Amino acid sequence: MVQQYSVLINGKLEKPGKWIDVVNPANEQVIGQVPDCGQEELDRAVAAARSAFKTWKNVPIDERRAVIQMISAAIKANADELMRLLTSEQGKPHAQAAGEIHGAAAMAAAQSTLTLEDEINEDSDTRLSRTRRVPVGVVGGIVPWNFPVMMAVQKIVPALLSGCTMVLKPSPFTPLATLRIVELIADEVPAGVLNVITGGDDLGPLITSHPDIDKITFTGSTATGKRVMESASKDLKRITLELGGNDASIVLPDADVKKVAEQLFWSSFTNAGQICVAAKRIYIHEDIYDELSAAIAEYARHVKVGDGAEQGTAVGPIQNKKQYERVLDLIQDAKDNGYKFLLGGDHDPSIPGYYVPITILDNPPEDARIVAEEQFGPVMPLMKFSTVEEAIQRANASDYGLAGAVWTGNPEEGVKVAEQLETGTVWVNEYLHLSPFAPFAGHKQSGFGAEYGKEGLLEFTYPQVITVKREKAMA
Ligand code: NAD
Repeated sequence: MVQQYSVLINGKLEKPGKWIDVVNPANEQVIGQVPDCGQEELDRAVAAARSAFKTWKNVPIDERRAVIQMISAAIKANADELMRLLTSEQGKPHAQAAGEIHGAAAMAAAQSTLTLEDEINEDSDTRLSRTRRVPVGVVGGIVPWNFPVMMAVQKIVPALLSGCTMVLKPSPFTPLATLRIVELIADEVPAGVLNVITGGDDLGPLITSHPDIDKITFTGSTATGKRVMESASKDLKRITLELGGNDASIVLPDADVKKVAEQLFWSSFTNAGQICVAAKRIYIHEDIYDELSAAIAEYARHVKVGDGAEQGTAVGPIQNKKQYERVLDLIQDAKDNGYKFLLGGDHDPSIPGYYVPITILDNPPEDARIVAEEQFGPVMPLMKFSTVEEAIQRANASDYGLAGAVWTGNPEEGVKVAEQLETGTVWVNEYLHLSPFAPFAGHKQSGFGAEYGKEGLLEFTYPQVITVKREKAMA
């Protein structure tokens, strides 16, 4: 029998009785079962969070910080076990899984140092006005399947640090490593402060419409994000949404072809392309297009696609069947339209597992589905441009606005281009770097609000202004 995991409600690990199977995308085998929670478990989790909030909000921030540091240390101390579990449920190769686990521990430790000071608005003879930050209350956190541990941690940390309590829901596709972390820390987090429940896609709407939840922090697709916003609007819950992207990279003619080919490859294919901030459209100046596209394809030919638990695998499977079929559909559409493939395109359906070969398209048109839509898989379109203005215009012609990158031999010029991109994050000559101290915020339909940094933390608070009238001192 496969291992059955527990959820955490009011400080107790529970196995409510109905189960969801969790599948290893590398071989389609069931590797664990997690509770299929519904309204009853959610109501108990929310009640526990509400009750714990009364105390937790008044716990000194240094004590709340210590709980987060304990969570960070527990993840780090168990990194090897968690890394293996993450690979088996998510598909990413061991090295990338280790990167996520250690990254989550480091991110939590770094963000635990953030502070929430009062600000003085006026300190005069007649008035003292001060803004303090008060936690919004009970937070519902909803997590996707591509970086399940990192995304869970980046929701737990600001919620708990700010003095909020939380009910967190991992993705039904990738809940195992998160539930294992929860098991490791359950005894050391005060009861009710953090509740973690799993369930199917019907549990999300129950959370976003729950009358006793004050804020939702959601990471997932733009389509679901809109549903979350609509549902949360009924009682004006606060929301933070981190949504989809269709990030463009612009490669200027002075870029060092040999150096950037490998970096461009990994900016698209890390985690099999299943990253919100992966480069999903690559615009290359016509002067270097042929040379660079050939260099990328040549590098890609030597990258091994396979089971992330096998040595040498650098690109794993797609995480779940639905996404696998969607990526195959985009490849089929490219074939049907006669677009040119530099690499890949053909998969072997007889092999178990959701494997998509590394696929690179050669200059498909701007209205191709593979260019216009977020592919979220190991398929990269390379496109040719003539002028920088044209590249900027094409990069910005999207409802998304998550991130982007500029590659150049002249960083100052790169910054000028970066400043014209309509996205919340732009890298010059690097990719996928997120700082624990910088806001990560999608523009346009890529999000609402910010995560990370002080701005991310403030999203879990209300400003409260206390004004005290002073009598003017008599002369
Ligand atoms: P998804 O929107 O399908 O699901 C995300 C989470 O929402 C899951 O836990 C799911 O169970 C839950 N959910 C589903 N329907 C819901 C509803 N109606 N109400 C509330 N919750 C609901 O996303 P996914 O397929 O898990 O993740 C892939 C998407 O996430 C991509 O579009 C990707 O770009 C995006 N993403 C964005 C970021 C970011 O920070 N901007 C990070 C990672 C992933």
